[in-house]
Amino acid sequence: MAKSTSKRKPLMEAMDMKRDVYQMVINGDRVDSSTKETFTTYNPATGEPLAQVAKASKEDAERAVQAAKQAFDHGKWRHFPVSKRSRVLNKIASIMRSRFNELVELEVLNSGKSLSAAQGQVMQSIEDFEFYAGAIVGHRGTVNNVPSGFFNYSQNEPVGVCAQIIPWNYPMMMAAWKIAPAIAAGCSVVIKPASLTPLTAIVLTEICHEAGVPEGVVNILPGPGALIGDYLVEHPDVDKVAFTGSTPTGKDIMQKASQTLKRLTLELGGKSPNIIFDDADIEGAVAGSLFGIFYNTGQSCEARSRLYIHESIYDEFMEKFVEKTKQLKLGDPLDKETHLGSIISRGQLEVIDSYVQSAIEEGATVVEGGKRLEIEGFENGHWYAPTIITDVTPDMKVVKEEIFGPVVVVQTFNDEQEVIKQANDSEYGLGSAIWTKDQGRAKRVADLIQAGIVMINCPFSAFPGTPFGGYKQSGFGRELCIETLDLYTEQKSVLSYYGSRPINPFGV
Ligand code: NAD
Repeated sequence: MAKSTSKRKPLMEAMDMKRDVYQMVINGDRVDSSTKETFTTYNPATGEPLAQVAKASKEDAERAVQAAKQAFDHGKWRHFPVSKRSRVLNKIASIMRSRFNELVELEVLNSGKSLSAAQGQVMQSIEDFEFYAGAIVGHRGTVNNVPSGFFNYSQNEPVGVCAQIIPWNYPMMMAAWKIAPAIAAGCSVVIKPASLTPLTAIVLTEICHEAGVPEGVVNILPGPGALIGDYLVEHPDVDKVAFTGSTPTGKDIMQKASQTLKRLTLELGGKSPNIIFDDADIEGAVAGSLFGIFYNTGQSCEARSRLYIHESIYDEFMEKFVEKTKQLKLGDPLDKETHLGSIISRGQLEVIDSYVQSAIEEGATVVEGGKRLEIEGFENGHWYAPTIITDVTPDMKVVKEEIFGPVVVVQTFNDEQEVIKQANDSEYGLGSAIWTKDQGRAKRVADLIQAGIVMINCPFSAFPGTPFGGYKQSGFGRELCIETLDLYTEQKSVLSYYGSRPINPFGV
């Protein structure tokens, strides 16, 4: 039999999810760093090393950008019929489904989050790929109204090479939010995960190849943000940057990306208000407020961290809220009974504690928590008690700044106008929640809240299809929705003339 002359690379085969060493993926290959350097990634719940990870250098970043550019300029992915791209996205989702438990376990081990949180986030990541597999099919151009004799249509074309930089709090979900719409649109991607939590994003990149994404379309560069992130943001061959992370880093990226006028999406920090009106269903509002702040151990950009309670129900609400907070179970993140996992790192633990100490120094009262915890069997991990702080004033650091931990500050109000003003008194504008049985009030307040997301009697905000993103210094651009595809495409307008006589505006 004649030997095959095909140059097609074999698809990346599945590997054990848990390994000692995780390589980068560049141009469809698992590769070591050009410097052979690795870094250690930890299990934050135990404080123990989990694996070694290839540490990307600038040289690796250059290779990844060139692989992505080659795939975009000369590869086939963007030219595939949209139904074929859609099929590959569905295949990614189905591989993820078949390896769901492994992905969840890896996410828990690398992030310290609870099993139930990781399950929800991995499931949503799967659904993101399914969502964009469908959405891209309907992402059509338009035929526009022009005078007779002319014909004008707009078509959506992929924007090009996208650098995607993600944080540590939702490692798998943020990777999915970024990769799925970008590749659905036909772009190429270089993704940089947070150094604290690179593992599930690396595995997701491998799964993309296993599902049939061609080489160079999805590349991953674990490594230091300041070095690799900067390099990507400033690179002239990168057409778009999609960043999720803190507001200071977002500002820095915006400045640097402006030099080459890159397309930019910024999903940044938050300090989201949670408003409990006097007619709220108290049980529902308590349960939703508990979840709103303590989900993911408070390490959530849209954590409802500023609680505003109507004075007339303050005592009743607080009694129940404090009581339920005491019932939250912290411990083994892999135990399905655990509500809250660990904090991501010792550094973050210190940040949280210093905020709480600053509140005490400024005269606030810690009514619950406010301390580090030692958990049996997890003594070297990073644990902090769910914390409720009262007697705060709007100028205190704990009220103004994002803590990014399980800490809620509580204030009271008397009327609708007053609480809208309090809620909007923030440089952020990401999430918000309103608890009331009065639908008219819910609508009025929702209209006036300066935030990208308003939840009414609802503890969650993010399903595939619901736009996610911020006002003010929480960033711009919306993810998780159909419109995200617009952020990964350019619109080209094509105008042609079919008149019987040539157009000769100069008349010469
Ligand atoms: P971070 O800004 O420190 O880091 C985010 C990513 O940027 C990491 O991959 C990091 O390595 C990289 N980075 C760091 N410096 C960089 C630089 N100079 N240039 C380019 N990249 C750089 O944020 P974090 O601590 O990982 O994550 C927590 C923050 O993320 C919080 O502020 C949170 O609110 C925010 N967040 C926002 C959303 C949202 O959708 N709005 C979602 C999740 C997290």
